[in-house]
Amino acid sequence: LPQIAFAGRSNVGKSSVINRLLNRKNFARVGAAPGKTTHINYFRIDEKIYLVDLPGYGYAKVSQTEKARWAGLIQSWFDDRSLMTLGVLIVDARHKPTGDDKIMSDYFKGTGRPFAVVANKLDKLKKSEIEPNLALIRETLELPDDVKVIPFSAEKGTGREELLGLILDHMGGTV
Ligand code: GDP
Repeated sequence: LPQIAFAGRSNVGKSSVINRLLNRKNFARVGAAPGKTTHINYFRIDEKIYLVDLPGYGYAKVSQTEKARWAGLIQSWFDDRSLMTLGVLIVDARHKPTGDDKIMSDYFKGTGRPFAVVANKLDKLKKSEIEPNLALIRETLELPDDVKVIPFSAEKGTGREELLGLILDHMGGTV
């Protein structure tokens, strides 16, 4: 089955984005204790697709042991890159991506598989901030031109159609 992998810093709204995508409230747990999701969750949808919920990162209070565990998990998942149909990196639309975001983005880039960036919490931006912030995300992550940055609000539903469209485009006509 196609696997769509979601990654993002703790609290960036990864669970909310997944829930919005599926139009379900509690598919992925929102507001889970940051840094506590130390395993990879798989959601199988209608026998057609796997959503892969990679554990959140970038939580300052996580111990070195936990960080190493996270890195090991992510590394082993990415080692079998053929598993991934499409990668989705979720970042915060309000801020310059962090060093951890860049590392994650580079993991995705390194797979050679298609990936997209979701700029979440768009509803918290002023209109005039949207374009510059999206440009800053693209620039900081050094994204190749073919990688889309999708303005998104899990809260309002902005960007849902675009992300869904992208996912369907990569599913090779299995829907
Ligand atoms: P996760 O740790 O990345 O899975 O993040 P969660 O989905 O648990 O969300 C973290 C917090 O951000 C919660 O309080 C959400 O309600 C909030 N949140 C998520 N997405 C949005 C959004 O698009 N807009 C706003 N304003 N808040 C959001």
